[in-house]
Amino acid sequence: MRKTTAIIHSVPVDPQTGSISVPIYQTATYVQEAPGVNKGYDYGRSNNPTRKALEDIVAQLENGVAAYAFATGLAAIDAVLKLLSAGDEIVAVDDIYGGAYRLFTHVYQKFGITVHYVDTTDVENVIDYITPKTKLVWLESPTNPTLKISDIKKIAAIAHAQNAWVVVDNTFASPIAQQPLELGADIVVHSGTKYLGGHSDLVAGLVVLKTQTLADQIKFIQNASGGILGPQDCWLLIRGIETLTLRVEKQCRTALSVAQFLTTCPEVDKVYYPGLASHKNHHIAQQQQQGLYGGVISFTLKNDTEQNALKVVTATQYFKLAESLGGVKSLICHPAQMTHKSIPQAKRHQSGVADSLIRLSCGIEDTEDLIEDLEQAFKKAALLSNVQQNQLVADAV
Ligand SMILES: *Cc1c(COP(=O)(O)O)cnc(C)c1O
Repeated sequence: MRKTTAIIHSVPVDPQTGSISVPIYQTATYVQEAPGVNKGYDYGRSNNPTRKALEDIVAQLENGVAAYAFATGLAAIDAVLKLLSAGDEIVAVDDIYGGAYRLFTHVYQKFGITVHYVDTTDVENVIDYITPKTKLVWLESPTNPTLKISDIKKIAAIAHAQNAWVVVDNTFASPIAQQPLELGADIVVHSGTKYLGGHSDLVAGLVVLKTQTLADQIKFIQNASGGILGPQDCWLLIRGIETLTLRVEKQCRTALSVAQFLTTCPEVDKVYYPGLASHKNHHIAQQQQQGLYGGVISFTLKNDTEQNALKVVTATQYFKLAESLGGVKSLICHPAQMTHKSIPQAKRHQSGVADSLIRLSCGIEDTEDLIEDLEQAFKKAALLSNVQQNQLVADAV
């Protein structure tokens, strides 16, 4: 059985009725025959058949022994952090998701967890910061918003030599492009809000584990802390996952075309996309992501001002101005004013988030329409000075 067939047929048919769609078990509790004698379900926080179906599907998607569903991506990340004790350390990718940074720094630091943010695109940096106290190496690849790529296999070998677990936030790549557990990671987390859900109509999170020991610990935390995903959203997420391959393959193809188009635009300075040969770790992405480089692209403008970026992001028609990514509708965002606003300007600049940086999430619209949309937006924004315009005309003649 091949990949997409496996996904479609990992969605179970209801044994009781034959329902081809997983039933939504909207219940808080389950009637028992005698105290402790039940059908495997006793209370809605501890277990729910709709959630169990989703968790089994995601475990299979990522080749893990088990997966657990949480209310949001951050609730999933929070559950993983609860594996740690005071005194433990984390080595994390410096371009980490802003919400994870906030959780690590402003919630967990006060419980005695130390986090070192390092540029993991160079393996040597991980070697420099890993110590016997390191319990987790936290990676995202590609990262948000500058699409940095780290070598998961090499970093896993380094981490395991120090008995540290490797966690990969696989939200950006999706399991269609990248399977971190196969590359040596121990834990995968997802914001199900993005590609897994795929329709920008729910928030959800998942943790997938490589070993039964880790699975038992996360299951315990899920029940003890209680940040579960409700049955309606579990059902909706299953419904989204059924079309994951179709969506992601299309989004990756479109993103590569859009990225190539952007490299030809006179208004554009840098284009960040792992599928471009000019990307720092393109060769790693090529192996690690099976040639599928993701649906997100970032770029900066030659006239690098926030004002110019704002002109562009408010001039597109199909790329809707919004936070989030991974849905069927294309989105555009200005990280400096939106997703990364809480990070001080100097720190933002350091990690490549220039004032004019624009992030695109390609949806499933026709690729040509998306390219034409950007073309008209650049024209409408009139970003080039008269001198630059005249030079272009002169070059063309
Ligand atoms: C969105 C996102 C999260 C957080 O997920 P929520 O569902 O919004 O809580 C975590 N990691 C990455 C990479 C994300 O893009």
